[in-house]
Amino acid sequence: MHMWTRQLCRKVLSCHLKWLTQLHRGVQLCAVRTVSTTHSTGVLGSLQVTHGDHVHIRDVGHVEQVLGKMAAGGREKLQVISDFDHTLSRSTHNGVRCPMTHDLVKDSRFISESNQRRICEIWSYYYPKEISTTLPLHEKIPLMVEFWNKIHDIFLESDLSRQAIRTIVRESDTQLRDSCNTFMSLLHKNDIPLLVFSAGLGDVIHEMFEKHHLVFPNCRVVSNFMTFDPAGKVVGFRDPLIHICNKNRSVLPDDTYSSKEEERTNVILLGDSLNDLQMADGVPDLDQILTIGYLSRHMERLQDFTEGFDIVLIQDETLDVANAILGKIVDSDG
Ligand SMILES: [Mg+2]
Repeated sequence: MHMWTRQLCRKVLSCHLKWLTQLHRGVQLCAVRTVSTTHSTGVLGSLQVTHGDHVHIRDVGHVEQVLGKMAAGGREKLQVISDFDHTLSRSTHNGVRCPMTHDLVKDSRFISESNQRRICEIWSYYYPKEISTTLPLHEKIPLMVEFWNKIHDIFLESDLSRQAIRTIVRESDTQLRDSCNTFMSLLHKNDIPLLVFSAGLGDVIHEMFEKHHLVFPNCRVVSNFMTFDPAGKVVGFRDPLIHICNKNRSVLPDDTYSSKEEERTNVILLGDSLNDLQMADGVPDLDQILTIGYLSRHMERLQDFTEGFDIVLIQDETLDVANAILGKIVDSDG
């Protein structure tokens, strides 16, 4: 049952030293590595996993155990919870940081240059606090509420509408991670719930999924949604405000987990922030959880990420590893 995981982990560990050497040389890492022929006939080979030097696993035995139990539980026990910005969406493209949902609106022609400058100043002040691992939570939370509200207030001062949001997304070249289409289609095909839990802008996320033909009934988005007047103008934001520190059960709608979903006690969680690890807090009777963290910038956070997430993927702009794991669980159902 667990042979493929052991093979994966051995391969990952053997590559780790080489990866560090490359990183220190500033070499752009290749996220895709061909599965060796020694694995091609085993379970690992059948997964078509694109392993590389970019994978970090804190506790090989733990991951192996969790994956084995998840495979035994199959699709009926599984649900997926994912962040959106820089998790389902790309983090970087050709070495350049990709915009997040707030950025897309901020940088659009619907926000005046003076308001864009104000947002940049706000961002410069609050973002270091957002990613700080030393700022106590009781100090960080009110700062994050201020951060989000100040940005949203500027959006409300601007000439935004439902149609403007649609136009912004349609005109942007923002991309989802490579193989995100496969990921979401696989979940849909197997009727596995996907909760997209985002402190970004829910309306932008919906438009992104529309644009990429990824609107599926098994996918629910919990995020910051705008409210509109009868003419379609943006007039507010729905409560509760979701920011980076409260992505947990405290802001989930009461009907997030129906009686049917309560039986899905195994969770794959994807995120690009340590705060994303809270996203599964509301899962009833959580049994097994596998957390996958994406780290593309601020490499000084690697140790914290490795301690927080079960699997950390460095500069990997694909969902290939998640797809391989998902495929294994689905296949185990026969
Ligand atoms: Mg994110």
